[in-house]
Amino acid sequence: MAFHLQMFRSGSSGNCSLLTVGSTRLLIDAGIGPRSLAKELAVLGLNVRDLTAAVFTHSHSDHLRANTMLALAREGVPMYMNEGTLQGARRREGRGDLERLPAGMVRHFDAERPFELKGLQLTAFQVDHGAPGPDNHAGDPVGFVMTDGRDTFGYCTDIGHVTLNTLMHLKAADLLVFECNHDIEMARLCARPWNVKQWILGDYGHLNNVQCATALAQLFEGREGVGVVLAHLSEQCNTVGMARETTREALAEVCEAVVGVATRHSASQPWVLDGGRARPLELEVPC
Ligand SMILES: [Zn+2]
Ligand SMILES: [Zn+2]
Repeated sequence: MAFHLQMFRSGSSGNCSLLTVGSTRLLIDAGIGPRSLAKELAVLGLNVRDLTAAVFTHSHSDHLRANTMLALAREGVPMYMNEGTLQGARRREGRGDLERLPAGMVRHFDAERPFELKGLQLTAFQVDHGAPGPDNHAGDPVGFVMTDGRDTFGYCTDIGHVTLNTLMHLKAADLLVFECNHDIEMARLCARPWNVKQWILGDYGHLNNVQCATALAQLFEGREGVGVVLAHLSEQCNTVGMARETTREALAEVCEAVVGVATRHSASQPWVLDGGRARPLELEVPC
């Protein structure tokens, strides 16, 4: 069964994607408001109630919004996250919308333990982001791999650095959404408070273009037909051209991949993954 990916938003203003495999429609993160979500789904001829489930990577507000969770719960859409991420969201929201969620709508998964949603097997794996330790303001951040036994999709943004465990999980991906957040020099020179810059550049912040390109080259060496969507680009500290060029240079020598870039304020170009080959619906320049 082909995988269809439609990313609605990507970046620090909001993250939300829809993965469709047959009749399974999975929302990945809900960091946009309920009206924006309803509008994007309507473009595809869908309602919120048509979603099979929503899964969450972590509790930062650009990935998880309590009012959108409430809207999902009202339409009977179950939401999956780990315990740490629910706690992180509660710490942020206090006694807000999250307290009004009907019982049973939030369900838990554990990292490294595969779970199934209507024919799709998902595995979450831990990533370093936010802050170390139990009071992490990001909750308990994860990336995902999802497979139907034939094709494999990977989703991994908001990571401070790439670990061996991350590489191990994402190696199977035929289509991968991967963070390409900033250019190091632009991040060092931008007009942000020093502590924010330190965090972004640190091991619990965001992945820079070179880290992203290096990891992708390791992941996809010798592969053909794979697709990569560079995601969560910083508005102030990156450009589409720089992100794409750094990645293309690293991949050109080692694999045959198609590289796309997710857009920040509007829906991105959709992708299809079928029989191990990924392609955007309007082809971009292959590298
Ligand atoms: Zn984010
Ligand atoms: Zn985050």
